[in-house]
Amino acid sequence: MTLQAELETILSTIADEVQKRRTFAIISHPDAGKTTLTENLLLMGGAIHLAGQVKARGDSRRARSDWMKIEQERGISVSSAVMTFAYEGITCNLLDTPGHEDFSEDTYRTLTAADSAIMVIDAAKGIEAQTLKLFEVCRLRDVPIITFINKIDREGVSPFELMDEIATKLALDTAPMMWSAGMGGLLKGIFDPERDRFIPYDRMSEGKEATSLSGSEIAKYMSADELAAFREEMELAREGSPAFDLDAYRAGHLTPVYFGSALRKLGVRELLNAVVQFAPTPRPQPSSVRLVQPTEPKVAGFVFKVQANMDANHRDRIAFMRLCSGKFKRGMRLKVSGSGKTIGIHNPTLFFAQDRELVDEAYAGDIIGIPNHGTIRVGDTLTESEDLTFTGIPNFAPEILQRVRLDDPMKAKHMRRALESLAEEGVTQVFKPQLGANWIVGVVGRLQLEVLAARIETEYEIKVSFEASPFETARWVTAEDPAELRRFVDAHRGNMADDRDGAPVFLAKSNWELGYTAEKWPHVRFSATRERA
Ligand code: GDP
Repeated sequence: MTLQAELETILSTIADEVQKRRTFAIISHPDAGKTTLTENLLLMGGAIHLAGQVKARGDSRRARSDWMKIEQERGISVSSAVMTFAYEGITCNLLDTPGHEDFSEDTYRTLTAADSAIMVIDAAKGIEAQTLKLFEVCRLRDVPIITFINKIDREGVSPFELMDEIATKLALDTAPMMWSAGMGGLLKGIFDPERDRFIPYDRMSEGKEATSLSGSEIAKYMSADELAAFREEMELAREGSPAFDLDAYRAGHLTPVYFGSALRKLGVRELLNAVVQFAPTPRPQPSSVRLVQPTEPKVAGFVFKVQANMDANHRDRIAFMRLCSGKFKRGMRLKVSGSGKTIGIHNPTLFFAQDRELVDEAYAGDIIGIPNHGTIRVGDTLTESEDLTFTGIPNFAPEILQRVRLDDPMKAKHMRRALESLAEEGVTQVFKPQLGANWIVGVVGRLQLEVLAARIETEYEIKVSFEASPFETARWVTAEDPAELRRFVDAHRGNMADDRDGAPVFLAKSNWELGYTAEKWPHVRFSATRERA
């Protein structure tokens, strides 16, 4: 084969594979049913054979790592991962976003790796706080959203009200795709008059086949009057909302709405079909140089998460990289933007529900785990030596700043290493004040402090505690004129700290102080986020 012909073959393989990828996350408030839905999606993809295994198997693996005990004790998921499964010839990469109410940077970054999201809403509760927060993150990037209204086997708010709430609270158009025929004790099933389909709800035999709405079969499930009433309801709902429009959905302006029950396996298949049919294939990613197309021949990806010490016996770290372009092959050498080093990727891992497996090939949209010893950090871009970095994977200004107290001062050096290495995972941030010796850690949610203390104790055998710091908020400071920045730093020694990359951070005692300072120094920029260069 000539070189040209070879390149064309590769390009067409890449284009084919990209078409077959759907990389999405589930966003929801705790308890809405994300885990149950995940299990059933995996079940449908044949990735697991019995619902209930995600948690069970996950726990036995996780139990090896002590710090995750917090997670188990509290029944929440602190870390996020990815699960890959196949459905109807499509490779689905399902990103797991932590469901806890403490919004973490981790969650945000996980969402930067998703091309679309499923929003799960509890039919009895409507839009809850965490759903709203996660939705806002999706909106920042116009991530398209499919809505699943869950738990319709229980009494809930009327479907009309739910649709209304989504439209008003989220300022999002809604298009009902499947309608709930009754709810709770009166639930008959879900139906779709447009395609003449009805899926009966049956407590005993879950996941029933669809039947025709116009045939005689339907009489088994409801009277003609009931059918007419449901039809009319859905008609009304449709008249009140715009028709489904694929482009509007893909642009993040409209959400198709599905009703169902994850627990009873009702409507889950319809939801997954919608993902396969409507959800976007891997999107082009913005970088420092250009928009990188998923179909480009050269491999490029970014790291949105690093998980250290998954196994307490080995100090291993897994960097989760989202591939953005090219055809990745095991053994490939890729350049890491942060350190500038080129490393061989010999053990790239793909994660399934119950297992991980070495991966030989991967394409845009795939998430691969790269074991390493700290060379790869959150925010790093990996390329085949091209000089580009993906943008939009920020650090957030922490909302809680605490001083670290060490019980044994002899361990200061150790502690520093522990703090820095845990900060590398991007879960917490560490700041070294320019005056004074106490490190300050910054987190976005309070739970992160507990996780941090527990991990330092179990993984590094150092006892630390946290105490209030005089500071309330932090901003990265930059200025076009380096002399101006120096003047600013010199004038505010008591407020200045360095982040782990040595970038200057202004710590303010109050929002008032921040506002006042910013006003006095108009040529200094105060940023609440910082993207790694
Ligand atoms: P998560 O916190 O969002 O992951 O929620 P889970 O999947 O753990 O579900 C929370 C609770 O709601 C569990 O007790 C589930 O059994 C229950 N649940 C989930 N889906 C349904 C459903 O469709 N109907 C009913 N009745 N309960 C559900």
